[in-house]
Order: sequence, then C-alpha cells, then structure tokens
Amino acid sequence: MEELVNTQLDHTEGEQESPYSQPIGALEPSGLSLDKLHARPSRDEAEAAVRTLLRWAGDNPDREGLLDTPKRVVKAYEEYFQGYKQNVDELLGRVFSEVENYNDIVLVRDINFTSHCEHHVAPFLGKAHIAYYPSNGVIGLSKLARLVDVFAYRLQTQETMTAQIAQALVAHLKPRGVAVMLEAEHMCMSMRGIRKQGSMTVTVQFAGLFENNAEQQARFYTLLRGAR
Ligand SMILES: [Zn+2]
Repeated sequence: MEELVNTQLDHTEGEQESPYSQPIGALEPSGLSLDKLHARPSRDEAEAAVRTLLRWAGDNPDREGLLDTPKRVVKAYEEYFQGYKQNVDELLGRVFSEVENYNDIVLVRDINFTSHCEHHVAPFLGKAHIAYYPSNGVIGLSKLARLVDVFAYRLQTQETMTAQIAQALVAHLKPRGVAVMLEAEHMCMSMRGIRKQGSMTVTVQFAGLFENNAEQQARFYTLLRGAR
C-alpha cells in the first residue's frame, strides 16, 4: 500500500492497469470510464431493476407495501452514490488558507463515513482519520470531511478509498506528508458470509515524510490515541 501513492505521483496517462492506481480523473463521472457501454439507465429502467430484485428475494413487488419501494430505492441510490457527481478538483481547488507560522502536524480524527462495498453493495460504516504536514497552507476541516464523503459515496473497497483520500491530498495540498487511516465495519461480513459482528477493518496509507518513517508513524498513532 505504501508504494501506491508514489506510483500515483509518478502517474502518466495510460500506464496504469491496476484499479488501485487509476488517476482520480478517471474515476470521475465526466471521465472516459462512463463510455457508451456504461451509459446511465433511465429512472424507469432502474426502478424495473429493483422490482426484479424484489422478485428475486421471493416477494411480490405488486403488494401494497412494496409498490413505492423501487422508487424509494432508486432515490436512495442517488444519495448513497452522490460521490460520482462530485469533483475532487472543485472541492480542493481553492481551499488553501495561509496560516502563518504553523507548519506542524494537523490531525482530524473520527470523521464518520458510510460507504458501500463494491463486491456486495452492502454498507460499510466507520471513521476516517487524516493527518498531514502543511507546506502551501491548510485545508478547512469541513473540506476534509467532504473529501472523505466524495469517495465514500461511491462503490468502494476500503483499501481503495484510503488510497484515494491520501492521493487527493497529495495532489492538491502538496503537503510534506499525509497519513490516512480508515476503520470500518463491513455489513457484508456481519450480515452474510462469515457473519461476524463487530470486527473492524483497519487500513492505513502513508505518503511523504510519514512513509517508511517509524517515528512519524508513531506520532500519528499517538495523536490518534490521545484524549480518548
Ligand atoms: Zn462486500
């Protein structure tokens, strides 16, 4: 994982094959990833698909309680996946405020997020913790939370999401170092499959001066634990 951000920093168009190393631009809805083959279906088509799944579950989509369900599910999808409509460049484009005389670590912890795993479209819920060493300025704390949401409100793996947050900060904030940690419970593990409740998955991505630097990483973990 640690190599990832470096790879992305060196990114040149067309070289990457792993989904982990796609440039952010390629993940944007305006990018080439949504070609004609993947053209967005109409709302009616989406609602019909929900009806099919309700029948697949074994129920009757024409019974009273389920009549409006396809409409509601499609609307909920617009919320769950609103991140595809959001643009990181816009969000982080002009957020830097010069803060004179502050160049030490900034850590924001316990940023709640809800996302959906791309394998089962099951929710995973947790917290993001982000630390960085500013160089060109600092980013508003609410923007950090919104950055997490841009990626959370998409179909995700926790690993990819962790890397994307770090990568976006490296690209836009040009900090001296970034550390991102995500802790989440995956409903696809607690409600199905092995059905283990309460287990947390932790992912970490370091870039810049956190990378391969045990002292800086220890500082990050110490600040995370502080005042808990
Ligand atoms: Zn899953």
